[in-house]
Amino acid sequence: MKKILKRVLVATMALSMGLASASCSSKKSITVEKGKLSMATNAYFPPYEYYEGNKIIGIDAEIAEAVAKKLGLELVIWDVEFDSIIAGVSSNKYDIGMAGMTVTEDRKKAVNFSKTYATGIQSIIVKEGSEITDIDVLSAGTYKVGVQQGTTGDIYMTDDLGEDRVVRYSKGNDAVLALSTDKVDAVVIDNEPAKSFVAANDGLKILETPYAVEDYAMCLNKNNTELLEKIDKALEELTADGTIKAIIEKYIPSNG
Ligand code: GLN
Repeated sequence: MKKILKRVLVATMALSMGLASASCSSKKSITVEKGKLSMATNAYFPPYEYYEGNKIIGIDAEIAEAVAKKLGLELVIWDVEFDSIIAGVSSNKYDIGMAGMTVTEDRKKAVNFSKTYATGIQSIIVKEGSEITDIDVLSAGTYKVGVQQGTTGDIYMTDDLGEDRVVRYSKGNDAVLALSTDKVDAVVIDNEPAKSFVAANDGLKILETPYAVEDYAMCLNKNNTELLEKIDKALEELTADGTIKAIIEKYIPSNG
């Protein structure tokens, strides 16, 4: 019985080794589509990703472009819902997710993260004259909070305030519009998009005390460690030569 089992195992191993070498000889691509780096993002998150005409630009788009260039790949950007990015990357639909995405322990269970390339802050937006002055006042009341679905703002607020007090929107700007029209009392969202949304909508302000400080990174499929190593090396080089700092400063001039 044992012998049979062993033989079956050996045969299975031989078969899988054969398959592996067959795929090696056909030069298996380390990206979903050969010669391309496909990036999933949600392009309503200025200044990290947003539309200028029909082109997606921003910090993430430019850093991804610089990384792709180093890897000899052509960057292709897909604009999808934020909370479908991780599923798309783990099912090999896209090579990377890059969307001002915060590194969290929970997400690490589904995807790998590259080296961090930027810091994010969760901020609280309220209407000017609001009685909400900080997170404690917000938490203690019965206020409703608008968030972008599936973001860390959503996760933290749902944990802290409970399901009933959180209203989810697919785009950050929709949450901000809900605040302007009194459908919610506050919005919790990343600081840089918060600044753009507040600048574009009268009568809103960002509370001075940040709610959480976070690291942004690209997410990749757990099995694609080869691409992860290459991307990390590229990010290291782009950090060392000042490219990343210059890109961030271009979009956030006060940053440095
Ligand atoms: N940093 C937040 C997160 O990762 C929001 C990102 C986003 O909305 N694009 O959840």
